[in-house]
Amino acid sequence: MSERTAAPGGLALIESLVNTLDIETGRDSLDTADGRAPFGLTEDGLHAARELRESLRATLLAHAGHPPHRPVTPLGTLLSRAPLYVSVDDRDGSAALAPADDGPLLARIATAVAEALVAGTWTRLKACEAVTCHWAYYDRSPAGRGRWCSMRVCGARAKMRRYRAKEPDITDGSPAT
Ligand SMILES: [Zn+2]
Repeated sequence: MSERTAAPGGLALIESLVNTLDIETGRDSLDTADGRAPFGLTEDGLHAARELRESLRATLLAHAGHPPHRPVTPLGTLLSRAPLYVSVDDRDGSAALAPADDGPLLARIATAVAEALVAGTWTRLKACEAVTCHWAYYDRSPAGRGRWCSMRVCGARAKMRRYRAKEPDITDGSPAT
């Protein structure tokens, strides 16, 4: 995982929340207090956090042109429960979006989405195409058409699966071994 560079700004929060679940093994780091701590979550907030996580994942899949991995509550519905307002600094007139309620994870996520929208980075946060992965990653490819969280690991795995699926493969003309 070290080769995946974290997404910029508040998108790193979204990326790390989505990636608390390993879809292949079912391991969910929100199950542990240590895993919940970075998100300021208690067990009470777990159900809502997991709902938010999968709505985010479906949205990040949509950024990459893929259908939702499962039925989810639309992300917009969840974010509408976390109103933002425009705060203006009287001294220099600078303005920023701020959550109406500072505490909850939902408000921090809503702020991160709004900031990314302004920065033009929102649609570059995607979820990996591989069904065993669906990992969130920030697409740094020049054309913004990346499909896998990591070409080296995940993309190679996907290619291998496709290769096996269409055996025998005679495209390179070499005899099968
Ligand atoms: Zn992947």
